[in-house]
Amino acid sequence: MKGAASGNSRLERLRRALRGRGRLPALVAGRAGVRYLSGFTGSSGWLLITGGRFRLITDFRYREQAREEVAPGVEVVSGHSEPAAAAAALLRRCRRKKLAVDEAGLSLKEYRRLAAVLKGVRLFPAGDMTGPLRKFKDDGEERLIREACRRCGRVWSRLRPLLRRAMTELEVSALLRRLIIEEGGRASFEPIVAVGPHASQPHARPSHRKLRPGQPLMVDFGLEWKGYHSDLTRTLALGRPSSRFRSVYRAVFEAQVAVLESVRPGVKAASLDRRARETLARYGLAERFGHSLGHGLGLEVHEEPRINRRSREIIREGMVFSVEPGVYIPGWGGVRVEDVVIVGARGAKLLTRADRDIDSAWLEI
Ligand code: ZN
Ligand code: ZN
Repeated sequence: MKGAASGNSRLERLRRALRGRGRLPALVAGRAGVRYLSGFTGSSGWLLITGGRFRLITDFRYREQAREEVAPGVEVVSGHSEPAAAAAALLRRCRRKKLAVDEAGLSLKEYRRLAAVLKGVRLFPAGDMTGPLRKFKDDGEERLIREACRRCGRVWSRLRPLLRRAMTELEVSALLRRLIIEEGGRASFEPIVAVGPHASQPHARPSHRKLRPGQPLMVDFGLEWKGYHSDLTRTLALGRPSSRFRSVYRAVFEAQVAVLESVRPGVKAASLDRRARETLARYGLAERFGHSLGHGLGLEVHEEPRINRRSREIIREGMVFSVEPGVYIPGWGGVRVEDVVIVGARGAKLLTRADRDIDSAWLEI
């Protein structure tokens, strides 16, 4: 990102967005937002925007790294004072009485601290400042997400032949982490590996449960590549699939395909969610799908746009999101199929590539 013109155009877009809020000085605090705008990848940094100046406030630990990473036009400020005090000192100098504060990434504790040190400055909570910008991916971001997804697919195809009877969920999770590293990435989150009835919990934590024939196995993981995330879920029948597994899998797969075919610029995110539920309803399974259809991903695993029934989002070109219908049946297990797409002018382009048709959804162990 460093030196890229995109860094500057992002700052420019934020400046334009802020102008609509009365040209307030602004503070961006969320890690992903700070990285997006400045290029800084460290865990401690605030971006203070006053007039045309962009200053990254960090501390001694990140001084060198920040100077190496920041985009042109961003100054690095790293002193001994805490970030709130440093921001207060800079604001005093430019005599501004209001500060728009990024609500994403700033804890309540930090907000209170800021209010305490910024005497005479009114804080103005300004929502998630970079979320609305980050939901549209530029070419550089698309390349990185594509690569993350490509490697994620490779991890899955390498994992399949390594699965053995009596392996535990935790062992599968460890294997996944190793493969992710071998593919040059890092795990986006703790992989979800759930076998049998455990798979009825959408976010099951891997345990010592063992892989056994006759049970479903759900695996959900992501690979981070140069800061950008991917997210993939596959579900397999262990041993010959039962007729119940086949019918649940078919319903979920058809729901996903129906959504993928409906994605195009201009459609409502909520209507995609509805589409998935209508398909599941034909199998009598709509009530078994209790979570959102999907989420945006990029510098964060979960970001805008949110794809669910309450979403007011309109799908636009350049958005990247997951499509992940699932069916969860307590006492039996669950099936989820998740892929990541980018919206093109004519529809969804699938970024994750891994077998998902019903004939590939089982494994002899
Ligand atoms: Zn996932
Ligand atoms: Zn996901």
